[in-house]
Amino acid sequence: MRIVLLGAPGSGKGTQAKRLSERYDIPQIATGDLLREALASGSELGRRAREAMDAGRLVSDEIVLGIIRERLARDDAANGFILDGFPRNTAQAEALDKMLGKLDQPLDTALLLEIDPDALIQRLTGRLSCPECGRVYNIYTRPPKLDNQCDHDGTELVHRSDDNESTIENRLRVFESHTRPVIDHYKANERLITVDAEGEIDEITKRLREVLKPFAKASGKRKKG
Ligand code: AMP
Repeated sequence: MRIVLLGAPGSGKGTQAKRLSERYDIPQIATGDLLREALASGSELGRRAREAMDAGRLVSDEIVLGIIRERLARDDAANGFILDGFPRNTAQAEALDKMLGKLDQPLDTALLLEIDPDALIQRLTGRLSCPECGRVYNIYTRPPKLDNQCDHDGTELVHRSDDNESTIENRLRVFESHTRPVIDHYKANERLITVDAEGEIDEITKRLREVLKPFAKASGKRKKG
């Protein structure tokens, strides 16, 4: 299964991509995570990405496409993947179509997590995540059982440095101006499925699995055949 997961910052892409990745046994490829890793490792690439990330702007297509090209070439992506946070503009979407076209591995579908924009600020300002396992919490709506500790492995939770109000506003503006057209790109090719991303996390996962059923069956058959 080859899936793109689209949605505004805070719409739940990371949380749902992680669950789908476990369910279908395909890697979650999140450009934001890959960029944060590059930044933490102190690499040249991370250094070049830092300024844009701190300001909530998009990192250059050159950097992001390089990361994606490398990641998709790894063995574990051969049977499918779920892209989370990529593509973020139409140039990236077109480059992805070309890349996958050359590999004769077209996308199955693009899923859009749709949510009321007013809910996003609270989701982002309250967001905490586990640096060890990637689980995401929210101090307002989904707090961990113990203060600031991951329920799963007890690791101290972290608040992303770009989850502050001024950067968030910028990220939401960037989504509207650059990423909204990506939705139209997939709509025009009839590859877009919109899913309501409001409500309980389990409920949203259920909705996603429901719309993915036809693709799961098709890829199961391909594997057997
Ligand atoms: P995310 O974790 O997806 O919210 O991404 C965090 C930040 O990484 C974004 O605000 C951008 O600065 C950068 N970023 C992530 N993915 C992309 C992408 N596909 N294109 C450009 N910049 C990106």
